[in-house]
Amino acid sequence: MEQKSKNRTGNKILTYRVRLYDRHFSWLKATKELYTQVVQHFFHVLQQEEELLKESDFSLLRTLEIRCIGTKEMKAAGIRPDYPLTGFPKIPLYFRRSAINTAVDLARKKAGTVNPHITLYKGMYQNFTDTTIELKLFNGEKWVWVTYPFTGRSLPPEAERLSPMLVLEKRTAWLEVPLSFEVQDIRTVKERMETEERICAVSFPDHDVLAAAVILSRTGEELEQKVFRGGNEKEDQRRKLSARIHTSEESRGMEERRNRSDVRMETVSDCGDGSNITGTKENSAKENAALYAGIHDLNRYYAHRVSRQILAFCQQQNIKIIVVPNYENALDFRDKQYLKTDGYRWLGRSIIKNLKYKAFQQGILVTSVRPYHISDCCSECGEKIRKYNEGHTAGKKYYGGKLFLCPNGHKGNAAFNTARNVGKSFLGYFPEKRS
Ligand SMILES: [Zn+2]
Repeated sequence: MEQKSKNRTGNKILTYRVRLYDRHFSWLKATKELYTQVVQHFFHVLQQEEELLKESDFSLLRTLEIRCIGTKEMKAAGIRPDYPLTGFPKIPLYFRRSAINTAVDLARKKAGTVNPHITLYKGMYQNFTDTTIELKLFNGEKWVWVTYPFTGRSLPPEAERLSPMLVLEKRTAWLEVPLSFEVQDIRTVKERMETEERICAVSFPDHDVLAAAVILSRTGEELEQKVFRGGNEKEDQRRKLSARIHTSEESRGMEERRNRSDVRMETVSDCGDGSNITGTKENSAKENAALYAGIHDLNRYYAHRVSRQILAFCQQQNIKIIVVPNYENALDFRDKQYLKTDGYRWLGRSIIKNLKYKAFQQGILVTSVRPYHISDCCSECGEKIRKYNEGHTAGKKYYGGKLFLCPNGHKGNAAFNTARNVGKSFLGYFPEKRS
């Protein structure tokens, strides 16, 4: 089929940022300073001999090594390189190569050499697991291996990890990891819209319905609809966890009050056992941390689950384009009381984030439209709608209502109405199908 032949496979690179555990910061800084000096050395050579920049990166690396380090033959013949690396401690091979490539990159971009990040080549790091990385650092005297645990987004196992970058900020060290994902279909939205007959548009309400999806034809006709629930289930679990945190904190308060009376008793009896008391306190603090993490994981779990369900629905419907509202810099939900959403509870942004990365691996593109007037207008006629809940009268200020009514008599589920507006807003950019 024609459509099939147009599919192109490829790779997409996404950079994930994780935070390194706070240890030996002075060594990280010393390594960074040394790296900067080595970069500056090669950058200086490139400024002296600008014609070198005409060479390819690969041959330039070799040329710079000959000009700065020399070769065995040169050494045997007693020939000194033009720009020797003097005054430096021993620079490991991969550290040098990384610095050369950074210098070349900066020289080509005609950028300065202030504060270059360290690109870590193999040999500068090892044992890169899902939670730790071992870095070869210069501690001011010699090179040492240090293991750094890290926290942040978990690195997806299916992606190939490319050379990570070490980024230092005031007192914090970050690792930026470029990840290469295999993509089944790398056609752009525009290319796809030349052949696609249908799209999927999604809205992200609050409360029990976490997402509502509609399949629209090119002309905006609704072909299928589906809701993705789980909000109530999640809130239920969250309430249980919160209650446990509350109880645990209360008992901790009681424990502390009891400890204070123990201190007074200590003078008359032997019942004050310091180590035991501390142990209990630590345990309950640990338990609370785990409970708080549990609440956080709950949101993550549901965001993952819903994004997987939306994707499965789209695969089953053979959809290649998913349209979502672009919430990235449009709205701060905490400031928008009328949206009746709770910044912590609402999962829209997280679902979209998950959906984007899961979808493109399946050859499905997630694209977005501006989220203006998607939830307060009728998707049929464009008039302002009123929302209401079952058994209530439609009111102008009933923003949280699940149903809607428009002045022209169109009515139905407000979440699907929003999804249709998202889809139609997108289709507006592609009025005609090219044949
Ligand atoms: Zn209407």
